[in-house]
Amino acid sequence: MEDKDKLSNPQVTIQTIQKYGFQFQKRYGQNFLIDDHVIRKILRAAEITREDIVVEIGPGIGTLTQYLAEAAGKVYAVEIDDKLLPILADTLSSYDNVEVIHQDILKCDLRQLVGEGKTCKIVANLPYYITTPIIMGLLEGHVPAESITVMVQKEVAERMAAEPGSKTYGALSLAVQYYAETYLAANVPLNCFMPRPAVGSAVIRLTRREQPPVEVKDDRWMFRLIRASFNERRKTLVNGLRNEPSLGISKEEAEAALTKMGLPLTVRGETLSLAQFGELADLLMK
Ligand code: SAM
Repeated sequence: MEDKDKLSNPQVTIQTIQKYGFQFQKRYGQNFLIDDHVIRKILRAAEITREDIVVEIGPGIGTLTQYLAEAAGKVYAVEIDDKLLPILADTLSSYDNVEVIHQDILKCDLRQLVGEGKTCKIVANLPYYITTPIIMGLLEGHVPAESITVMVQKEVAERMAAEPGSKTYGALSLAVQYYAETYLAANVPLNCFMPRPAVGSAVIRLTRREQPPVEVKDDRWMFRLIRASFNERRKTLVNGLRNEPSLGISKEEAEAALTKMGLPLTVRGETLSLAQFGELADLLMK
């Protein structure tokens, strides 16, 4: 299909929406792309080839899907909104390598979808209201995804890629970086979407690590400590830990661990690296 006939041409999107009398659903985070430059940036960041199986989360009316279909071997497009199904059947009719799955991505078994033993690349302009559950579900659920290239809220992309000590560094940065390497591919202005979102967007690629960058006795315990450390950002790490009763860590225990690590007792969680959280978690392991 020629680019001028694709949905990335705003006129084609408007005609399609009018033809079907489609009403945008805010509750589903529906902001459709109308800019082919951005779509090409997403494809380049995702490094899609004919060998790839791609899972697209939320195809909408099929804008990104049309490009994915031309670049990949196979595309599974998982969409929750049944009103979009007849539109997708129309806009994707010239591609025989796309399968639209009518499902909530949070309930979808991707291992079964792509087939046992096969891997896939996840590509999406995500519905922002469920960005974190989707990303963490994909990373923690050990879904067979080599990489996840997604449009997210700019601030969320920055949090995922943040380094210790920066303002946006937190539990999400550590959780994402434990499982994946991050690469910020592009900032995307508001006028690339219809309707315009209220917040800026960015494309980020997460490439799954073969091995976590730190070895810990129990990673779930480490993440409980991490969450407690960032619960009260302006408190010291010691106070964050002892204020979370479910951990059962006393002030003395927390201070002894920090001393062993050569850290000041007034240190804040936001300055600790993943390696340091790993060491702390092992020292405080019950
Ligand atoms: N990919 C299209 C594009 O770029 O123009 C649409 C992106 S739009 C930001 C997000 C899409 O995700 C919408 O089509 C929305 O209906 C869909 N969606 C929202 N929640 C979903 C869920 N839980 N499972 C699957 N799709 C979902």
